[in-house]
Amino acid sequence: MHGESNLTGCEYTMLKMSYAVKNGTLIHVSEVESGLKCGCTCPACNARLVARKGSIKEHHFAHAKDEDCQKGTETVLHIMAKSILEKEKYIRVPKVYVLTKFTAVHYQGHDFPRNKQEYASGEMYIKFDRVELEKRVDDFVPDVALYSGNQCLLAEIKVSHGIDEDKLQKIRSSDISVLEIDLSAMNGTITESELRDLLIENVSKKKWIYNKKAEYYRKEWLNLCDKLQPLRRENIRTEYEAYRYHYIINDCPQNKRIHNGRPYANIKTDCFPCEYCINIEYADNYLLNEIDRITYVYCCGRNKISSVKELRDYTKSKKKL
Ligand code: SF4
Ligand SMILES: [Zn+2]
Repeated sequence: MHGESNLTGCEYTMLKMSYAVKNGTLIHVSEVESGLKCGCTCPACNARLVARKGSIKEHHFAHAKDEDCQKGTETVLHIMAKSILEKEKYIRVPKVYVLTKFTAVHYQGHDFPRNKQEYASGEMYIKFDRVELEKRVDDFVPDVALYSGNQCLLAEIKVSHGIDEDKLQKIRSSDISVLEIDLSAMNGTITESELRDLLIENVSKKKWIYNKKAEYYRKEWLNLCDKLQPLRRENIRTEYEAYRYHYIINDCPQNKRIHNGRPYANIKTDCFPCEYCINIEYADNYLLNEIDRITYVYCCGRNKISSVKELRDYTKSKKKL
């Protein structure tokens, strides 16, 4: 069957199947006879369909025998999406966020600012010159692939469920940006122009499943951090507790505290709230309390980077050298 179906003149597309295949092209339910006489098949499983054109429910196609195969509507939407994208040749994409603190820390009632995100680039329009539907890229099959020269952006059209962990893993290792366009909340009808809006202009139903730029920044940032190992030290006095053991980091680049002339930081009182503490890695031992589980503190104090802007400036200044 062909993706180049004529969609004009069809006002409404239901998320139930209101298109089906006849003589190799998609046809709207309004253009066929009622019942089996429609002569249509399901675009996903090829089964014979009946056109339900009663007076109560909105007209749609259903499988003649057995249950509907679930994939029919999705396949129709993919074909329509391809047709719209091929016509427009551009897409508006949402902001790209980078995590600037990677771990959540809640310690003894204190909620330290973690999992903070900043955006690395704003909404933008991306032009492309070729659209491929359900064609293998590396190790997986995306719903839609948009190509501009040898650049590639993938899109997943979410109709009933999102992508599984296995596919996500493959996307991560292929390092190609993947955008999700969520149509799952559309239960009733969706017009062709609404579908066009959701695909092309609107960004409210789009999110990055994986973004190459965000991943690049995250990796760069972690590379610039010092991976510091906690030490247990007894009998040091802090503002909170006196004469108990504490976990400390030696050689704090911000010289938070000094002991025998050597700088150090108390993880709980200095690193947790520190703007340069980017990540805290924990061991999986849930018998221990949070502070005892800390295995590494990722500290960017030596390079003084606490925001995406600082990270960008640092990278730029290094490139100039
Ligand atoms: S995270 Fe902050 S307080 Fe902790 S060692 Fe680094 S600079 Fe010092
Ligand atoms: Zn089917």
